[in-house]
Amino acid sequence: MDAAPTRKSVRTTCAYCGVGCGILATPRGDGGVAIAGDPEHPANFGRLCSKGSALGETLGLESRLLHPLHHGVRTDWDTALDLVADRFSRTIAEHGPDSVAFYVSGQILTEDYYVANKLMKGFVGSANIDTNSRLCMASSVAGHRRAFGSDTVPGTYEDLELADLVVLVGSNLAWCHPVIHQRLAAAKAARPAMKVVLIDPRRTATAEIADLHLPIASDGDTSLFAGLLHHLADVGAIDRAYVAAHTSGLDAALDTAAQLDIPTVAAATGLAPADIRRFYELFAAAGKTVTVYSQGVNQSVSGTDKVNAIINVHLATGRIGRPGMGPFSITGQPNAMGGREVGGMANMLAAHMAIENETERDIVRRFWNAPKLAEKPGLKAVEMFDAVASGTIKAIWIIGTNPVVSMPDADRVARALAACPFVVVSDVVARTDTMKYAQVALPAAAWGEKDGTVTNSERRISRQRAFLPLPGEARPDWWMICEVARRMGAGSAFDYPGPAAIFDEHARLSGFENDGRRDFDIGGLAGLGAAGYDALGPVQWPRPAVKVEGGTVSVPHPAFPSADDTRFFADGGFFHADGRARFVPMPAVRRVPEDDAAESLTTTPLDAAARSAGHLTLNTGRGRDHWHTMTRTGLSARLSAHIAEPYAELHPADAARLGLGDADLVRIVSPRGAVVVRLLVSDRQRLGSVFVPMHWTGDTSSDGRIDALVSSAVDPVSGQPGLKATPVTVSRFEAAWYGFAVTAERPPTAGLDYFALARAERGWRLEMAGLVTLDDPARLAERLSGVSAGAILAYRDDAGGAHRFAAFAGERLVAALYFSRSPVAVSRGWAAAQLAGAHPSPARTRLLAGRGGADRPDPGAIVCSCFSVGINEIAGAIASGRAISVEAVGELLKAGTNCGSCRSEIAGIVAGVAPEVVPNIVTGDASQRTA
Ligand code: SF4
Repeated sequence: MDAAPTRKSVRTTCAYCGVGCGILATPRGDGGVAIAGDPEHPANFGRLCSKGSALGETLGLESRLLHPLHHGVRTDWDTALDLVADRFSRTIAEHGPDSVAFYVSGQILTEDYYVANKLMKGFVGSANIDTNSRLCMASSVAGHRRAFGSDTVPGTYEDLELADLVVLVGSNLAWCHPVIHQRLAAAKAARPAMKVVLIDPRRTATAEIADLHLPIASDGDTSLFAGLLHHLADVGAIDRAYVAAHTSGLDAALDTAAQLDIPTVAAATGLAPADIRRFYELFAAAGKTVTVYSQGVNQSVSGTDKVNAIINVHLATGRIGRPGMGPFSITGQPNAMGGREVGGMANMLAAHMAIENETERDIVRRFWNAPKLAEKPGLKAVEMFDAVASGTIKAIWIIGTNPVVSMPDADRVARALAACPFVVVSDVVARTDTMKYAQVALPAAAWGEKDGTVTNSERRISRQRAFLPLPGEARPDWWMICEVARRMGAGSAFDYPGPAAIFDEHARLSGFENDGRRDFDIGGLAGLGAAGYDALGPVQWPRPAVKVEGGTVSVPHPAFPSADDTRFFADGGFFHADGRARFVPMPAVRRVPEDDAAESLTTTPLDAAARSAGHLTLNTGRGRDHWHTMTRTGLSARLSAHIAEPYAELHPADAARLGLGDADLVRIVSPRGAVVVRLLVSDRQRLGSVFVPMHWTGDTSSDGRIDALVSSAVDPVSGQPGLKATPVTVSRFEAAWYGFAVTAERPPTAGLDYFALARAERGWRLEMAGLVTLDDPARLAERLSGVSAGAILAYRDDAGGAHRFAAFAGERLVAALYFSRSPVAVSRGWAAAQLAGAHPSPARTRLLAGRGGADRPDPGAIVCSCFSVGINEIAGAIASGRAISVEAVGELLKAGTNCGSCRSEIAGIVAGVAPEVVPNIVTGDASQRTA
């Protein structure tokens, strides 16, 4: 294998989002790793967000799977691999190739993806390999292919900085792609004439840089952009020359958009006509325009139409492929794009070739020497787990992902896996909700231990490099897939000495019989050899090989005149057979309910009576400092301090209507399941909808797996599920008692009606509640702390129903526990910090008070993770007049001066005036107010 652990600084790429930031990782002598942004990487130029900055805090081995397991019992690699190969081979022999499946991940590297796809499509002979990227950006892929004839992102990040108008659709850039948000914010600050429009049901942190926020009804985007196309034609803003030379279908698209005058669009989107007009006028007048979209567009049962409605207006105005212009899909995962490139989706072939295309199948068949190559698309993610549930799929290998948390109708996925005859899970982490169903568990190498490449949202391929040794018996994903392939009889096709050889084959396939007919061509990166691969810097595709005297050289695509310009489509050159792009006509408009309550236009409409009974539209998404199911970010106390508990955001009018208040616990129910989460009342939330993040699992919460509630209805073109528009009811969780604890050891949570568990510095923090009166709080304190009563200091207030405990081992605090009949009002951050340091007997009563003295006021919910600055500190500085701007807050408190991820929230606090913020922090950190 190629991994070469070292103590020098290593250039690598962030493990989290699709921005793909370059990182300098420097192993320290003490076993830790210093993390810094790579100033030379063109995605981030040295910047990192809070998640990237904290990568060094997530490299410990305590949660790792370090050895192969069979039914939970340690085994050796040979036995495990033989077993996997044997069960897959026998299942295929008895039930055919479509009786097995791989479910993979945008977290794995391109080389891992390449061999997984090659094994399933080329040598098993099924296309049943799909990926969690199906949940992320499949609608963008489908929209690109409909419009362009290829899955091509035309532009680059620089275009956002060069544009006159940036339109952000369904994209909370400030939290989900923070470094791109920082680049955009800096460009706007330097050029204030630039306009930013945010189209999002929620007034997210991203709204702080927006000139106009359109709080659109769920799934209203298609009508909004179809109406814009109509408006552009009306005001003569169509680029007739571009349309005539490079596209087809405009007239049909305009015909279907003809009904969309502004009042009709207002009825379909829930937006004010004046706001729609302003947006349309801004778009028509702007020269350079970029429209950025992500999960708010893709995660919809009409996601592909939304993508094409956006692309339509860029084609109509010719604003595509030139500096500062283009539709721009930004991906969630670090290697969603790499997975697309190798064909790691059930409906694609390798190297952006089409599985439906016989010519392209033949190219791949001959290149791989794979006579059994799959002839038809396989099952997409939702269909795949349906087939597991029905027994059609009898063996599945899940690689680097946690579908029991992240798939829609997640409880059904769990039941399907429980009944599946053979489940293999390869992962970095030992305790995931999915791992519980693994008959064979394979320990995978983690970020920092593996070598390969990833591709970011602007088509830039970057290296991930190993800087740590492989722990225990962990192995890279590509290695275990190749070992299984060898045992299944396909050895010679999987005989790679390392990832460099896999990348070389991937590059050669992309250029094989291509000649500019296919967008994805990195043939110029073939033949690098191990040393060239090791030294490979960030490079945007396409990079075809060009024949010159004495060999070939890597150059930009022949269609591009400048070596620095890899944008697509400025001069046409689309990948449909006639070289033209396609306008896609939009379907007929459907209206939102007249009372303006948000409701999916594609699910069953809720009537007013249903809404008054508590029905709302559930929108799911992400928090700022966590990633996916928290298997990495959850290891960092600093990141966990931002929002340490699953929560639901609800508009104040909806909360009042339902008799709910800030910091209540609420139960959210759909026909598929229920969660219990903390309520955050916020006027950033659209009336009629409720937002819940997707990060919490069965390991970190009692009932926080929000995707268990979500319908598995999918977009008919892309197969992507609609994760943002599920009808639900919301009601109070009638707790008889509430509790909060900090503990040095992970506390036992079994039997708690409600809990949420998060890391703290040197321990854990635990929120709890119970449905029946807590008869014996002292006994619960003993159980949670692991300390007997004799070493526990206790306080009780019978009138107020409060019980407080502090447990010690010598002078060390082992646990502080607080129980009450109402939500516990203690300073969470202060209490967690007391786990460090000595507590001699005379000073212990302060621990029972649950907050520092008057000289140490409660900092409140953490806003700045880098410097642990709380909302009360920021609000106090503003209220006192010592800081009246984001910059002044930074100078005074350092908040926002490192990674910058919290600058939007600080701007919101500055704009919101402190007194409106502070009274809501009734329970401390659970009540983050600013997003
Ligand atoms: Fe990583 Fe943050 Fe950059 Fe995304 S924006 S790649 S999470 S550092």
